[in-house]
Amino acid sequence: MAWDIREKKAYQKRWNADPANKAKKKLYDQSRRAGRRKKEMARLRGRLLSVYGPKCTCCGETEEQFLSLDHVHNNGSDERKRMDRSTIYRKALKSQPSGDYQILCWNCQRGKYLNGGICPHKSKK
Ligand SMILES: [Zn+2]
Ligand SMILES: [Zn+2]
Repeated sequence: MAWDIREKKAYQKRWNADPANKAKKKLYDQSRRAGRRKKEMARLRGRLLSVYGPKCTCCGETEEQFLSLDHVHNNGSDERKRMDRSTIYRKALKSQPSGDYQILCWNCQRGKYLNGGICPHKSKK
């Protein structure tokens, strides 16, 4: 049985008006939005890696899962308080090559943080 568009709209209206469906709809919208965000983040990340180089600036790690954007001047936590990650990614793409950002692996980023701003790889040299 094919529905004509008016029937379909009326059905949708009834469905939306039913309080039992409200939570379902919210969940559906949320997951759709999350899906879009995830895709957008992956796209931005891909662009960042191609612009900044797909490897750790410090140790040369190339496994993409380990790589992330690092704030060269260690102002990352401050910036993360003021804007969300996609905004930071976009800013990093726009400001390149300002020298404010670099790609580091998690090891080097953590090492840099714990070692007072210099990755232990570097302070050993
Ligand atoms: Zn590294
Ligand atoms: Zn390192």
